[in-house]
Amino acid sequence: MTSHDSSDLARVTARARSGAQGPGRTPSGVGRRGAVLNDDAEGLQIAGLTSLSTCDWPGRLVATVFLQGCPWSCTYCHNPELIDPRTPGVVPWAQVRGLLSRRVGLLDGLVFSGGEPTRQPMLGSAMREVKEAGFGVGLHTSGAYPRRLASVLGLVDWVGLDIKAPADLYEAITGVGRSAQAAFESLRLVLDAGVPVQVRTTVDPTVLDEEDVARLVRVLRHLGVQDHVRQEVRTLGTTPEYQEALAAARA
Ligand code: SF4
Repeated sequence: MTSHDSSDLARVTARARSGAQGPGRTPSGVGRRGAVLNDDAEGLQIAGLTSLSTCDWPGRLVATVFLQGCPWSCTYCHNPELIDPRTPGVVPWAQVRGLLSRRVGLLDGLVFSGGEPTRQPMLGSAMREVKEAGFGVGLHTSGAYPRRLASVLGLVDWVGLDIKAPADLYEAITGVGRSAQAAFESLRLVLDAGVPVQVRTTVDPTVLDEEDVARLVRVLRHLGVQDHVRQEVRTLGTTPEYQEALAAARA
């Protein structure tokens, strides 16, 4: 995810929705557990591809793939089309591979974003292929699947991790119980692994007030986070109900 607030994401999703990147395809092996590093990257459900981004990995020139499916349903999600795991991908992995082969020496790396990239069992195979081609591997994640994250962390050069709220307010944003446990466990894993990480918090004023944000900042500092970025909610792509709630919260 972008983080999930990548400036490129809305444009990419619009292309994906229109099918402009290629024919729909149904991946093999989606939903299987414990196969993160053994499946072939061809099965990735890719909703969109940005061939050049300067913001998805700070300081790097990258391409970004947006992987379909997310187990959460955040209040402010501005790409709800990426949530449904049953939606077929529209970009073949071969297209990503082809792009990278033409950009050797021009791109620093590939960022896997979403949706929630760690949902897909083929992620590790794809990351390994990217590394073997000489590119860096970036990952945007909400931390929804700590065990799957742990299984690919050794292949990742940089993580953009969304930490959305203090633990007691997490469910109010994601709509899913125990999402806080997953996210903070993922943060612990990344910090312990020593992988460079930028923690991002999109502040939802319908749930968080400034004291909540200050509380979260203290927690993150205590955990050892050194790079924390606050992001403001954008209304583009959000539901009319959320836009109404946001306007009321900001009034
Ligand atoms: S539902 Fe939440 S975690 Fe999932 S893609 Fe949307 S903003 Fe990201």
